[in-house]
Amino acid sequence: MLSPLKLVQPTTVQEASRALTDYGEKAKIYAGGAELLLLLRNGLLQSEVLVDVKKIQRLHGITLDDGILHVGACVTHHTLENSAIVREQAPSLTYAESQVANVRVRSQGTLGGNLAFSDPHSDPGTVLLIHNASVILGNEKAERRIALKDFFVDMYATVLEPGDLLLEVHIPALPAGMKSAYLRLHRYQRPTLGVAVGVRVNNGDFEEVRLAVGCVGPKAQRLAELETKIKATKLIDAKRILAEASNYLRALLQPVDDLLGSAEYKLYMTRVMLGDALEQAVQGNSAAASS
Ligand SMILES: Cc1cc2nc3c(=O)[nH]c(=O)nc-3n(C[C@H](O)[C@H](O)[C@H](O)COP(=O)(O)OP(=O)(O)OC[C@H]3O[C@@H](n4cnc5c(N)ncnc54)[C@H](O)[C@@H]3O)c2cc1C
Repeated sequence: MLSPLKLVQPTTVQEASRALTDYGEKAKIYAGGAELLLLLRNGLLQSEVLVDVKKIQRLHGITLDDGILHVGACVTHHTLENSAIVREQAPSLTYAESQVANVRVRSQGTLGGNLAFSDPHSDPGTVLLIHNASVILGNEKAERRIALKDFFVDMYATVLEPGDLLLEVHIPALPAGMKSAYLRLHRYQRPTLGVAVGVRVNNGDFEEVRLAVGCVGPKAQRLAELETKIKATKLIDAKRILAEASNYLRALLQPVDDLLGSAEYKLYMTRVMLGDALEQAVQGNSAAASS
């Protein structure tokens, strides 16, 4: 059972931030409520005031500005999945969004809520990393931009400060000629593993490579060292490099044994699925399959 809650419905970022500051620890930002209401209902989180940010118009847009897609924090997974402009600019994001949970969660949950909650078992953040996405955070006084890779601190932890809202996600297009793919593995609704790749290929050689892995460790991460090693190789060599990358991946991703599988299994599947995703991207299949 939920205890009675006060609902505040600001229409500007400043009002919302002020409410968060005024109510302090008692207040929580409420967007779609997909996570928040579950936590409150199960007694895992206490709150007296919900600051509903959905009436702030600024948080609802999807626009293209000079090649950079601007997505408001309150845009739902369902809207992103069905947006023509997103499909054109970031097809792997479209695919990742279509794989989130089920249509109920996709219609309720927002991109901002997903990123701000920083649950390791999430889809969009992993794809956004290969786009070098950034987030715009704001409070009563100012706004600031932060690279998404620096926004995620740990599982359920971000750089958001008290009084801050996540306002927008900025998603640059991939470099000209770069193809992408996202692959995900799941046993339950939330993913066990998600891999995103971006590649630019010339005569069979990888000229540019971007790799990201989510769900295996506390936060989604780019694999900078592997990107450098795979650059200027061919697919067959890249797969060999991935097969030998266990130690690097273990140190970076810090997988643990849990109900979703052993750490060794997750590392093995990470290597296999990165290789498969590279192959899919080379073939230009951004809407890769999930298993
Ligand atoms: C059954 C189930 C299955 C799921 N499966 C998947 C899956 O397969 N893949 C996947 O990626 N995700 C999955 N999710 C997670 C889902 O995507 C998120 O629950 C959803 O996107 C959260 O968005 P929301 O708007 O509902 O956030 P809310 O529940 O409203 O908020 C979540 C948290 O973020 C904070 N917050 C929300 N908006 C902002 C903002 N603008 N600024 C700052 N803080 C904010 C809230 O205070 C709260 O702490 C699943 C969730 C459920 C319940």
